[in-house]
Amino acid sequence: MERYQMLWDCGQCGTKGLLGLTHRHCPTCGAAQDPKRRYYPEAGAEVAVEDSPYQGADKVCPACDTPNSAACTFCTGCGSVLDGAKAVTVRAEQHAGAAGFATDDASVAAREATERKSADEASRSLAAATAAGLKAQEAASPARWPWFVGVALVLVICGGLLSLLFWKQESALSVTGHTWERRIGIERLEMTSDSAWRDSVPADATMVTCHEEQRSTRSVPDGEDCHDKRVDKGDGTFSVQQECTPRTRSEPVYDTKCTYQVPRWHEIDAAVAKGADLAPSWPAAAIPQPGACLGCGREGARTEHNVVALTDPKGGAFTCDLSQDRWSAMADGSRWVGAVGVVTGALECDSLKPAP
Ligand SMILES: [Zn+2]
Ligand SMILES: [Zn+2]
Repeated sequence: MERYQMLWDCGQCGTKGLLGLTHRHCPTCGAAQDPKRRYYPEAGAEVAVEDSPYQGADKVCPACDTPNSAACTFCTGCGSVLDGAKAVTVRAEQHAGAAGFATDDASVAAREATERKSADEASRSLAAATAAGLKAQEAASPARWPWFVGVALVLVICGGLLSLLFWKQESALSVTGHTWERRIGIERLEMTSDSAWRDSVPADATMVTCHEEQRSTRSVPDGEDCHDKRVDKGDGTFSVQQECTPRTRSEPVYDTKCTYQVPRWHEIDAAVAKGADLAPSWPAAAIPQPGACLGCGREGARTEHNVVALTDPKGGAFTCDLSQDRWSAMADGSRWVGAVGVVTGALECDSLKPAP
């Protein structure tokens, strides 16, 4: 991988654009390089590194803070052993935008170092505050039982509310009346316009016309987005790497849509009979033109309702829609018991049974 020299400015004599790897000390005044103030060169002005294999990020002497090459065993500043010495802080990666790499210099490096330091301090003080808070909490509540009791209390209240909703009481009821309804739908076979994708056009469809239409979209790969990034290696050099992310685009998926005519039964009318006695009967459904031809009619669905009316001693009125057998077995004035919701006030019709 190609490596290039980072740059640095001498803080003591003001010489600018010194090379990160070649000039470990300022060639003008001899001041040591500060690795925190290294910066990336302007695009096009990179100085390539030759014949200097990468050894690792520089190490900071724990005794005198002098940065040393990773290959050193002893500090060049004070002679201390560099065992366990920390690596220097590196600059953030630089990513090329549409206009290439942004301009970098010693002041940007200094701002980045300050920001990093205050972010570190903030996270350290947050961690300390969290630890202190936990400790204070532990001291304030030596036992955990109040928390436990709170949860139990909430559970009990919720359970109580729920059971209140389902709370029912047996109530005495008497039958006050009956009503019934019988309904027969009347249908006609009509030509109906409809549309469907070709694979689901019904077999009896006629006058089928089809056209292409968008049915869905799919995501297809569409190359890669690539840009260069510069990575500070920590030894006064940086490498340039290409970073790519796959790109996709959305593409319409076409299919054949068909419109057609198809004979279908439609309800056009209904015959209804109603009564308030105990003798329900089906109405006569007058079918205009019985048969299976287009425009012919037939009987449709039959529905029935058998409704009994009841009251309780407090004057509450209830109705139940029952099967005809159960309905007709409940004579007017007869006595029954049934479950009535205490909160909801609703009668549970399935619970009806003769009074003892
Ligand atoms: Zn200097
Ligand atoms: Zn040292």
